[in-house]
Amino acid sequence: MRDYDVIVVGGRPAGATLAARLGQAGMKVLLLERSAMPSLPSASSPIIYASTMSLLDEIGADETAYARNTPKIRRMVNASPGLDTELRIPMLDGRDYAYAIDRERFDHALWENALRHVEGRDKFAIVDLLWERERVVGVIGANGEHISADLVVGADGRFSTVARKVGAEEHDVVEQYPTSIYYAYWKGIKQADEPVALAYGQEFGYGFLVMDSADETTVIAIEGQAELLNPEPGKTAEFYEALIRQQPPLNALLTQAERITDVRGMRRVGNLYRQPGGAGWALVGDAYHQKDPIDGQGIYDAVFTAKMLAQAILDWRSGKKLWGEALAAYDAAVRRETYPMYGSTLERVRGSLYDKTPAWAVTPLRWLAQDTLTMERFGMVLTRQIKPNRVMTPTLVLGALLRGPLRDFSRFLDRESRR
Ligand SMILES: Cc1cc2nc3c(=O)[nH]c(=O)nc-3n(C[C@H](O)[C@H](O)[C@H](O)COP(=O)(O)OP(=O)(O)OC[C@H]3O[C@@H](n4cnc5c(N)ncnc54)[C@H](O)[C@@H]3O)c2cc1C
Repeated sequence: MRDYDVIVVGGRPAGATLAARLGQAGMKVLLLERSAMPSLPSASSPIIYASTMSLLDEIGADETAYARNTPKIRRMVNASPGLDTELRIPMLDGRDYAYAIDRERFDHALWENALRHVEGRDKFAIVDLLWERERVVGVIGANGEHISADLVVGADGRFSTVARKVGAEEHDVVEQYPTSIYYAYWKGIKQADEPVALAYGQEFGYGFLVMDSADETTVIAIEGQAELLNPEPGKTAEFYEALIRQQPPLNALLTQAERITDVRGMRRVGNLYRQPGGAGWALVGDAYHQKDPIDGQGIYDAVFTAKMLAQAILDWRSGKKLWGEALAAYDAAVRRETYPMYGSTLERVRGSLYDKTPAWAVTPLRWLAQDTLTMERFGMVLTRQIKPNRVMTPTLVLGALLRGPLRDFSRFLDRESRR
């Protein structure tokens, strides 16, 4: 007899939601987390959409707790020179808004929600795995404690210890377009009358995202080519602030503002999948699949993979499937949902941060980006209602390219009539 059915290593979006699902199904689960909860994760400047919130509803996570005092963002605007676009967040399951959540609050709410169903220990780092022949049968804590389980799940993020210890293979690794990202929270920024996520720039090889967040704070993130976002050691904050202040519209936002957190971030964000599991182990969340945050899909993917892994574990434990079959089904389900988005996110990184738009394409691209129908469909991609490869139907492109010149002409008439 082992101590637990499942040990989940890592207690943030993937681990806490997986543990809650397994606990709700009656399994004996131990949730282990290295940091003290509540606390911030290693790096994340997060936006979440209704797609994530719907998955959280399924496990009874309380929106008033994870999004306490957090404004509902219904509008995303791009204010880059010559490209003013607006995206209204499309409705999904009764929610037509996103949040730029406070990650400490969000992660803590998910942790507390999991503890209603399973046992959890924070400040518990695992340093190694227990093996019986070729099978993982438990974990070894930094305090030397041995704890056994029928299955060990690595929900321990990008730099997963579990993945390293089992030697999980990596695949679909993309390194051609490395990016880095830096962010901090500010007080005293007033963007607009209603909460908004504002994108700016990108043509410099980096771009800015300014999002209204919890407790009347605003997060400003800069993401761009890793070579360009390369501050000297110890000078990250100066580097970050200088980049923002170089942009007049962003500098104007800072007149009454005060930066209230350190500048955090990540250099050379990884893009990959890992092997989903093996004898006595599995991976979930970022430990399994990680990607550039430009589309803000990491938390959704983490809680989605948790749902799919919970299903696989329950199928295995109930005898419906052998472990190998359950893992294969898990892998296939995750692939179907995440692979098109992965490709589209990396394409966006290349297109918006690396490639220079040829002069002839600038106007047609603006017509597409300013087209309400096209933006609606892009919003449905971000909220995972349609796959990215379904956005641009020939009819939509043609329609947008016809509507674009008409819109330009009517703006011209408007301007003339006001003279
Ligand atoms: C800069 C940046 C910005 C981002 N912005 C967004 C965004 O806007 N929207 C979005 O959806 N996603 C965003 N993401 C991605 C998102 O943060 C991740 O996809 C998400 O946090 C993954 O959740 P997870 O539970 O898999 O891993 P994590 O959140 O990384 O949690 C892993 C946990 O495992 C614990 N752990 C690690 N090792 C051990 C160990 N040995 N023993 C015990 N515990 C351990 C860690 O302490 C940590 O708490 C961003 C990522 C980055 C880097």
